[in-house]
Amino acid sequence: MADIFTTRFAPSPTGLLHRGHAYAALIAFRRAAREGGRFLLRIEDIDQTRCRPEFVDQLLNDLSWLGLKWEEPVLFQSTRFDAYASALDTLQQKGILYPCFCTRADIRREVEAAPSAPHGPDGPVYPGTCRALAPDEVSKNTEAGLPYAWRLDIAKASALVGKTLSWRDERAGDIKAKPEVFGDVVIARKDTPTSYHLAVVVDDAFQGVSHVVRGVDLFEATHIHRLLQALLNLPTPIYHHHDLLLDETGERLAKRRGSESLKSLRDQGVSKEQVLLSLPFASD
Ligand code: GLU
Repeated sequence: MADIFTTRFAPSPTGLLHRGHAYAALIAFRRAAREGGRFLLRIEDIDQTRCRPEFVDQLLNDLSWLGLKWEEPVLFQSTRFDAYASALDTLQQKGILYPCFCTRADIRREVEAAPSAPHGPDGPVYPGTCRALAPDEVSKNTEAGLPYAWRLDIAKASALVGKTLSWRDERAGDIKAKPEVFGDVVIARKDTPTSYHLAVVVDDAFQGVSHVVRGVDLFEATHIHRLLQALLNLPTPIYHHHDLLLDETGERLAKRRGSESLKSLRDQGVSKEQVLLSLPFASD
């Protein structure tokens, strides 16, 4: 664990930042300032099909406009594929990953055929179709060039760790990790040789992050992150999952719902002070 308080803001450049991002970034930034610690910026751009350089430029610009300062250099996850490959290899060596050839449609069909299939925080839990594929079926599929993801066998991985894991959450207290609620998550995707879960755990350790400050929408993901830290022998930061900013209809702000971007507010002449005053800092 790093001795100096270190936190980060880790946006994905798949769209324009909105006030919810400003709020999240400022909570982390102000906390680091109060602690006399470090504030880092990490660009989570592993998904090369959805991330765009112009969104990176715009987000750096928006964050500077808000008065944020971060340590250079900014870490781009797209430069870290070797580190993710090495972590993936460590997990593979432990025999807790399996190739999954299922398409989204295959999974949907399986789940529909078993209406009592368990649901996790991200929707229906993967039914485990490829977990038991015989080695010759795997070779047949790979030889036929079928794309595959690597999934974590949660039961095997938990058995290997062999003890109950927990993490310290500053708002929610000591939390017992329950990675099984997600089922066998994807650790390396078909289209990119890592996943959000793997990359975030590897990079938080690499950057010496002592406190992960992020939205409560990622609270559940921490169950998986804690398990991956144990498997990869990485330190566990302290977590602080803050509330999300809601719009006037009570819905959380989201890029995909077209929440008004900081850029558009700026273009309309809204000042930085007006944006800051609109954020509910009393509750962080
Ligand atoms: N890149 C993630 C997002 O934009 C945040 C990851 C994290 O803070 O752990 O939602």
